[in-house]
Amino acid sequence: MKLKGIPVSPGVAIGDAFVLKSEVVSVPAYRISESKVPQEVKKFFDAILSTKRELRKIQERVAEDLGGTYPEIFSAHLLFLDDPILVEGTVELIEKERWNAEKSFDIVVKKVLHSFSSIPDEYLRGRALDLKDVARRVLKNLLGKGEESLSDLKKKAIVISYDLSPSQTASLDRDRVLAFATDVGGRSSHTAIMARALAIPAVVGLGDISKKVKSGDLIIVDGNKGVVFVNPASETLKSYTRKKRRMVYLQKVLSHLKDLPAETLDGHRVKLMANIELPKEVENLASYGGEGVGLFRTEFLFLNREVLPSEDEQFEVYHYVASKVYPEPVVIRTLDLGGDKFASPLEIPKEINPFMGWRAIRFCLARKDIFLAQLKAILRAGKQGNVKLMYPMISSINELRQANHFLQEAKEILQKEGKDFSQDIEVGVMIETPSAAIISDFLAGEVAFFSVGTNDLIQYAMAADRGNEKIAHLYQPAHPAILRLLKHIIDTGHSIGIPVAMCGEMAGDIHYTQLLLGMGLDQLSMGPVAIPQVKQVIRSVTYKETKALVEKVLKCSTQEEVKKILEKANQPFLKFFRRDGK
Ligand code: PEP
Ligand code: MG
Repeated sequence: MKLKGIPVSPGVAIGDAFVLKSEVVSVPAYRISESKVPQEVKKFFDAILSTKRELRKIQERVAEDLGGTYPEIFSAHLLFLDDPILVEGTVELIEKERWNAEKSFDIVVKKVLHSFSSIPDEYLRGRALDLKDVARRVLKNLLGKGEESLSDLKKKAIVISYDLSPSQTASLDRDRVLAFATDVGGRSSHTAIMARALAIPAVVGLGDISKKVKSGDLIIVDGNKGVVFVNPASETLKSYTRKKRRMVYLQKVLSHLKDLPAETLDGHRVKLMANIELPKEVENLASYGGEGVGLFRTEFLFLNREVLPSEDEQFEVYHYVASKVYPEPVVIRTLDLGGDKFASPLEIPKEINPFMGWRAIRFCLARKDIFLAQLKAILRAGKQGNVKLMYPMISSINELRQANHFLQEAKEILQKEGKDFSQDIEVGVMIETPSAAIISDFLAGEVAFFSVGTNDLIQYAMAADRGNEKIAHLYQPAHPAILRLLKHIIDTGHSIGIPVAMCGEMAGDIHYTQLLLGMGLDQLSMGPVAIPQVKQVIRSVTYKETKALVEKVLKCSTQEEVKKILEKANQPFLKFFRRDGK
């Protein structure tokens, strides 16, 4: 069986399935005698206490593993356990109605969930999920069933589930999880962000894989292509085993590159940087040879939590990343919610066309309170000297100027507040809309750098949704229109004297490394695991030959011709990357 989903964390894993059923806890219901009331109330409070202990333990572990604001998720969970509606409401039912503790608690929880569900709101839906997660824990403790978690994993396995709650993911023994495959979710789902941060392959949005698979089934998860094989044919298994062996081998043979420059044979040097989402990820940068952070996506701060992060909290996170990476640079991108990044406490209404809608800078310009807090935090972290600021989804000069206007206001407020901050932080824009690409000459005059976001640029230029499988054949980095746009952006940036980077997925795809090099990009930023391979390509070619390749490719009128030429030029590397040490 082959299932197609959304690839959210790269890599390949082969192993046995561990199916995590979202267990329905059956709730016993019986009336108690008056004399049993104090005992029942005590039982309830004991369960609340045990649940608090469990959650605090998870919170500590998350703080250690992931840092940043992740532990906050569990503060929100803990708050439920002190909520008078839930706690006093349950005690009242035990005392007045003489229901047993489990039933009393269940009645109260259902009532609260019902009140949430009557309001169609993304934020309350998130809270409902949190409450369900907490309530299941309390019920399990009441029933003396103890903690349900992925720590039950006894050996290495691929975790299959409907979805993973934050507390489930947090309690996993990450040395035993080979990969994740879930029924629901998207690129910004909790499981996806965690998987990327922990470098565990993951595919989400697989429909009903948790129903189709049994624990013990043999599974292949291909986190690059977004496919999962269940009890694969021997040919498939053989081919993936080879692939896996190759990846392990490559990692080993390329590890020596980490301290060498990304420089061509004829001395042309570029910078290879990392895209990160969680602060903790900076700790592994050096082992991949990343020269700083080319894209720090800040959305995680706003996802899966109750209240918006304060300026101080954001400052702590940005400062932490900046000081870890120092003296290399960190490009902090302002909030890019909307599009495919939802599930936050913000009330972003559902739209018919979210990628074309109220997202990223458009949202920030309308929510001054949120934007100013973030800008102030970035400016303060900028004091370190290696922080750059970048706006996503800019589509006009006006937007850029408005954003800069807020930046100026943020500086003035900080000045009044007497806080330390950077007066002259470098400001750049992502070039990820065709309009920005076309007016890149105007934009270049007003910013310090460009970073091309090909994930969005391709989808907008090709009018092909980046997450829609049916039209994936149209989503083509090799299309002549995309190549022309890239060439135009890079040449324009350089003619005005600013550096041009790329931080979309294309930057980490070795099939395009020679092309991007020849086009003259100054920096390539990618998922850290891709850095050694890209560096290997760069160190094996001359800048001169890559420029000749670009000239040839730009004459092609179809993507097929482009790919054929690139394939030929890439032959030596593809051969190298196919070796597996045997
Ligand atoms: C991009 O669009 O290429 C990009 C890097 O940003 P994101 O994937 O976060 O939209
Ligand atoms: Mg983008």
